[in-house]
Amino acid sequence: MSKGKKIVHQREDCIGCNLCVELAPNNWFMDLSDGKAKLKRSEEKNGLYVAEISEPEVEANLRASQSCPVGIIKVMDENGNELK
Ligand code: SF4
Repeated sequence: MSKGKKIVHQREDCIGCNLCVELAPNNWFMDLSDGKAKLKRSEEKNGLYVAEISEPEVEANLRASQSCPVGIIKVMDENGNELK
């Protein structure tokens, strides 16, 4: 995966509240098969779903991260530091 900003989703703990989908529909959808949100264009590794995001998508995903009631969305910069 090339270097850019990324979202990391600890999907197992998702309670399906739909806030991330409402706030950042470019990057999230609800998987109706298990009622949990899913990150578009993501790769799964050890239960963590990771997707690259473009610069214009960052702000909406920071809002999703701040709004997620279980705190399982992280937005990371190019160096792997969490953005808040
Ligand atoms: S905001 Fe958090 S808990 Fe709600 S659907 Fe998205 S990832 Fe799941």
